[in-house]
Amino acid sequence: SALRTRHKTTSRDAGGEKDAGRVRVAIRLRPKTPQERAEDGDAASVVEVVPEMSRVVLRKSQWEADAYNFDSVFAETSSQARVYETLARPVVEGVLEGFNGTVMAYGQTGTGKTHTMGNLGDLTTNGKGDTADRGVMLRAVDDIINLTTDDETANFKIAVQYMQVYMSAIKDLLDANNEVDVREDPKTNEISFPGATNAEVKTMNDFIDILHRGEENRIVANQKLNSASSRSHSVLAITVRRYPKEAKGGLASATARISKLLIVDLAGSERVTKSGSEGQLLEEAKAINLSLTVLGKCINTLAESGNGAHIPYRESKLTRMLRDSFGGSAKTSLIVCVGPLRKHLSESGSSLLFGQRALKVENALKLREEVDYQLLARQLQRQVDELAGEVER
Ligand code: ADP
Ligand code: MG
Repeated sequence: SALRTRHKTTSRDAGGEKDAGRVRVAIRLRPKTPQERAEDGDAASVVEVVPEMSRVVLRKSQWEADAYNFDSVFAETSSQARVYETLARPVVEGVLEGFNGTVMAYGQTGTGKTHTMGNLGDLTTNGKGDTADRGVMLRAVDDIINLTTDDETANFKIAVQYMQVYMSAIKDLLDANNEVDVREDPKTNEISFPGATNAEVKTMNDFIDILHRGEENRIVANQKLNSASSRSHSVLAITVRRYPKEAKGGLASATARISKLLIVDLAGSERVTKSGSEGQLLEEAKAINLSLTVLGKCINTLAESGNGAHIPYRESKLTRMLRDSFGGSAKTSLIVCVGPLRKHLSESGSSLLFGQRALKVENALKLREEVDYQLLARQLQRQVDELAGEVER
């Protein structure tokens, strides 16, 4: 049924928290693999973390170190559950209240972005593994399903889109035949992805099927491309629609809340080495890195000049998709992943700087609501009927 709706967004300083809209940034240090431990011996990690002070120290040399503070800092021993609860759960709760949300992982290839966001835990071993390994994607959907099922005041509809961004193309991971675009509603600034399959999710099994379908399509797509898996961004968009239940003998709100959660696993942030990249290859390398370069430019401008400045979102598909996430109305958490080895020094340094700038980005949280006129009309009619009954008496 075509609901006649009017879009409305309401500014709100959430809970009186002063910097409620500021982007939250965490650092997560990956543990050394057994092989790295064997090669590296007990050499001190080039990144030192002080979780209780939310502090990271980058040991540039024996004499030189840079220290940075973040919202949270996770040591190599930190659990998936803890990372989720600290960084992602507040965003998921916001989405259920009607705010848009984004959880994004940034960092060099091999530092744990996909482990943090996309780890399927026991699902990859037919349930024989450990649910403790599950990443943000599974935990977020599990929370959304549980919290919406328990809610007695409203009905919910949950739908998922799953996409991969490679150079200037967005691919639908749920149907390889689809062309996906990104659009911004000029009135509401809502970002949508026309062309991407919208799969309804009612149970965790629905979502697991979606993830498996996405994984198969991703493998097929990436076989055709050079090292595409570390060069492409994956974006999971979960839309939550909340319809208030009509209360018995009272008035329900006629306002539906429609919010979107983006879970983003970015391409590796490492710079493409100049040596060996020439001509066609160099051009390709530049094009592949363009979206991350533009993301960096957007975040720099937002950090330095604020949201009123001209932000070059339109220069890449990725930044058009993330427009509401940085400098928009969403609650955003960024997880910057770093590696422990000396050879990671320079990339870890630039990732920490990226995180420092993202800390300064302020979003203006807005409730995403639509008035449902059919529901409103039914409610008004009921009130009229009740009044008429009283007049007759
Ligand atoms: P990225 O997506 O950033 O390229 P991955 O998530 O694929 O990196 O991680 C690279 C490797 O390191 C994988 O084998 C992954 O299982 C492992 N790994 C990453 N982070 C952790 C962690 N916190 N604990 C245990 N293993 C990890
Ligand atoms: Mg990865």
